Amino acid sequence: MPDVLLDRINALRVLLSGWGLEAVVISNPENIFYLTGFTGSHGSVVVTGNDIHLITDFRYDEQASLQSPHCKIVLIKETIPDTLCEMVQDMQIKSMGCEGNFLTYLQYSALKDNLPGIELKPLQECVEDLRVVKDHQEVQRIGNSVKLSDRAFEYVLPLLGEGVTEREVALEIEFFMKKNGAEDIAFPFIVASGQRSSMPHGTASEKAIVRGDLVTLDFGARLGGYNSDITRTVVIGQGDNRKEEIYGIVLEAQMAGINALRPGIPASEVDRAARGIIEGYGYGKNFRHSTGHGLGLQIHEGPRLSTRDHTVLKTGMVVTVEPGIYLPGWGGIRIEDTVLVVENGCRVLTSSPKERLITCGP
Ligand code: ZN
Ligand code: ZN
Repeated sequence: MPDVLLDRINALRVLLSGWGLEAVVISNPENIFYLTGFTGSHGSVVVTGNDIHLITDFRYDEQASLQSPHCKIVLIKETIPDTLCEMVQDMQIKSMGCEGNFLTYLQYSALKDNLPGIELKPLQECVEDLRVVKDHQEVQRIGNSVKLSDRAFEYVLPLLGEGVTEREVALEIEFFMKKNGAEDIAFPFIVASGQRSSMPHGTASEKAIVRGDLVTLDFGARLGGYNSDITRTVVIGQGDNRKEEIYGIVLEAQMAGINALRPGIPASEVDRAARGIIEGYGYGKNFRHSTGHGLGLQIHEGPRLSTRDHTVLKTGMVVTVEPGIYLPGWGGIRIEDTVLVVENGCRVLTSSPKERLITCGP
């Protein structure tokens, strides 16, 4: 078995024995991929103290054996629940966890009805708890995804100018990423220009960019299963004092967040550091989202860098730092990097320039 997968399975087994459970059934495709490397769209995994069973259908028989040589492949007879229940009974499992935040109520009821006498425990988080801290393979894959985003930014900068629509910009980035290896985009890209840039989640529209517009680009790739996430705000043609001033405040806040980021402190402290700068300049009410979020197999995962998340940060966590200021009727500015928590602080993985407000177009 590949070492990294063995380490993940063993870590899950430690959790299982702590919960007093003999087995856990995993249905969330990202968690299945994390534990087995299997990328098929139809499957379920049962982990016990000794075995890992990957249940899938005949279409994935060959793929499953190639991607997951450490798993016993079980082909579905009728449906996943039927096969799963039969297997669990054969193995004489008496207690099993399931993913409470993923299984639907109907799926859970089906398992409960078909497994009489077996304790079935919905777990809040199980594999997700492990995924919060990234191992060396994950850090490498996230790093590659971040590099692709950086290259996409460099590629799109000369294309930004008067007359091009937000949607065209988003498509150019997507095409570049997919042409250069991305399986997919990490999320629907935000390309918000002019007054639209005051909407923190203004997905690309048909609006054409005009001279003087601030343009906020928030995008990311999915590469090797892992997401990246970057935001840069640029100005078209020419900036002005106000734009430079707001950009400077957001950059100062973002750097304060990055400088605060280290293992051993609560996530909320990073949010406080960034938010404190923006509040100090009187724009607190114009920065209402959290300062950042974990990312990995999902674009948003734990921990959140928010006022309410007091998760203690650990080496190996990967988070974004992305404060912004949004002024309705004027526009908005956000700067976002992907950052790895390391032993003595943090390492910014994103390398796209941010030191000053970039001017694009003639
Ligand atoms: Zn983003
Ligand atoms: Zn983000």
